[in-house]
Amino acid sequence: MNSDFVYKGTKASLLTKHCKERVIKPVFEKATGCEIIVESQFDTDLFGTFTREIPRQGTQIEAARMKAQKGMELLGTALGLASEGSFGAHPATPFLPWNREIVFLTDRINKIEIFGEYAGCETNFSSMEVKSLTEAEAFARKAGFPEHFLVINTKDEEKKWIKGIQTWEKLKEIVTWSLKKSKYGSITLETDMRANANPTRMLNILKATENLIQKINQKCPRCETIGFAVADFKSGLPCESCGLPTGEIMAEIYKCQKCSYTMEVLVGKDKADPGRCPFCNP
Ligand SMILES: [Zn+2]
Ligand SMILES: [Zn+2]
Repeated sequence: MNSDFVYKGTKASLLTKHCKERVIKPVFEKATGCEIIVESQFDTDLFGTFTREIPRQGTQIEAARMKAQKGMELLGTALGLASEGSFGAHPATPFLPWNREIVFLTDRINKIEIFGEYAGCETNFSSMEVKSLTEAEAFARKAGFPEHFLVINTKDEEKKWIKGIQTWEKLKEIVTWSLKKSKYGSITLETDMRANANPTRMLNILKATENLIQKINQKCPRCETIGFAVADFKSGLPCESCGLPTGEIMAEIYKCQKCSYTMEVLVGKDKADPGRCPFCNP
């Protein structure tokens, strides 16, 4: 093994009950030299579920940090890894679905935290109210079923959620049964967003892991501590038309978590679109 590996001989916990080690473990171990120990018995649903029975506590970053720390506590490791995803509408184009994945690392050796990120439209995240099996099957085809599993919201108080539907036979059986039972004559089908049920999401977690590795490998130019990454942004890019500062980002600010050294990197644009200017386009 190369002695340049930042975590050679170190153990990292990874708290996941949805098989995220499939994508995180191989690349992370290969890039850093650490050994990942998976903790899959702990019920991470306690930190929140996508099907909303348990709301997530805090922000996405805070939830990922809590999981990473729980894993370290359970396994007694110096490094803790965890991932947390969120889904919703695209921030600028609300009719497009959006996925943000965070892979979080707590490093007690260097006393720092680093997270990798993926954010984009690559997701099948969607839901639909259906009144017939035909409608349900059409939704399933669009959602990439059966490689991507589905969940059903029966709207029934007693058995509201049926999860992990992954064959056409099962889909037919459950949809027929729950439509017959439904007081409303309809049920809601949703894409299953748990990592082991959703290969597209799994791929996004891999991308976030790669981003984490890239950040780990960035070293502080002053003290050489790893994880020298963007910590803040500087806005105020001047408007192309009137020259006044806008809310657009002008530079990224890198910061070392150890010695607090900061570095400003210009984003490469020197003028903002007047459409983004509060004076030209109030
Ligand atoms: Zn430093
Ligand atoms: Zn302007």
